[in-house]
Amino acid sequence: MTTLDDCHRRDAADPLAPLKNLFDLPDGVIYLDGNSLGPLPRATPARVADTMAREWGQDLIQSWNKAGWFQMPRRVGDKIARLIGAGAGEVVATDTTSINLYKVLSAALSIAQADDPARRVIVSERSNFPTDLYIAEALCRERGCSLKLVETDDIAGALSPQVAVLMLTHVNYRTGAMHDMAGVTAAAHAAGILTVWDLAHSAGAVPVDLSGAQADFAVGCGYKYLNGGPGAPAFVWVNPRHTDRAWQPLAGWWGHAAPFAFSPAYQPAAGITRYQCGTQPMLSLAALDCGVDTLLAAGELARAPGGMAALRAKSLALTDLFIDLVESRCDGHGLGLATPREHARRGSQVCLTMNGRAGAAYATVQALIARGVIGDFRAGDGAGHADILRFGFAPLYTGFADVWHAAEHLRAVLTSGEWQRPEFNQHHEVT
Ligand SMILES: *Cc1c(COP(=O)(O)O)cnc(C)c1O
Repeated sequence: MTTLDDCHRRDAADPLAPLKNLFDLPDGVIYLDGNSLGPLPRATPARVADTMAREWGQDLIQSWNKAGWFQMPRRVGDKIARLIGAGAGEVVATDTTSINLYKVLSAALSIAQADDPARRVIVSERSNFPTDLYIAEALCRERGCSLKLVETDDIAGALSPQVAVLMLTHVNYRTGAMHDMAGVTAAAHAAGILTVWDLAHSAGAVPVDLSGAQADFAVGCGYKYLNGGPGAPAFVWVNPRHTDRAWQPLAGWWGHAAPFAFSPAYQPAAGITRYQCGTQPMLSLAALDCGVDTLLAAGELARAPGGMAALRAKSLALTDLFIDLVESRCDGHGLGLATPREHARRGSQVCLTMNGRAGAAYATVQALIARGVIGDFRAGDGAGHADILRFGFAPLYTGFADVWHAAEHLRAVLTSGEWQRPEFNQHHEVT
């Protein structure tokens, strides 16, 4: 059986352990919610202050050129590309995940229907993150298409000749289950279907190889594992074989071939630049740049491209340890594992279900937060998906002893019945 001493020994031997110092985490907090909002990198406040005081305050409008503001979405995009198996010039950091999904889904529909107008269906998973489904639903209304939602096991069977696009989130936000991107993409292509991948819970957390998988489109989030700060710009990738084949629908001037020609007619820029829309938030992009740098620092430490292989190995070791400790030390409390045990199917989080009284999972998460162990709760949908206690294990700043203490706090909350206290059973607006 693993002991706390074993965990300390593993931390001491971990070459990635010093990366924790790149972050400004509060004392006494074990942060297992970087999959919802990544923590603050130490470099970010000074960088944002400099962008504000010097670039904006002193250099004013000259900073569009002098500080390279105008290039920022593409410059940060090139860094993100290294984490997701994309090439330079293929990614822009811009807008939100929801907005970028709208752009790529629309372009994918246009391309699919140019080849075969009878393809009028978007397929996704019922358990996908709701904003993805809402965006697809709205686009379908606009384009006279339909959205077909299936369970995970039924995806392969849903790839019919009417389907234009298969839209999936690579790592499921509720369960942490991960798709085989290359395998699913190949199956979609064999059926003449384009793929849109949401990397919100993948970028910076698990290795992603968009080019190797020959995926078609991808979007992802800047404020989760990329540590870009609340509301950080998201990113969008388009396979170069598609980029110039369609307009994206939000054809703003930042996506124009010559924005400063101020021509009344739109002409899309070549390449991924056309996926930009309007003026971007420079303070937020500066913060995102610092967040992405924390992941690239892991690459330098691990001497591996992007460091993702080393981060992945540690992430799996952390999630294996948590599963092991929950099962060996917290048994008898009705906890169940919602995350796949199989490494190839597991993202960087562990999700637990809890039998028993309604609301128990929510209250347990609240009691853990009061003890400084910050995870989160995701409500069930009343249709076969249970309430979830969700714990993200970001290998950049989580240690093995942290995992031990998190499991011990969970055990204490459950054995003492602490979660039943009224203050842990009051619901907040954001869970
Ligand atoms: C977090 C998340 C989003 C967030 O979208 P926003 O537009 O940034 O609010 C979208 N999709 C998935 C799968 C997510 O996990």
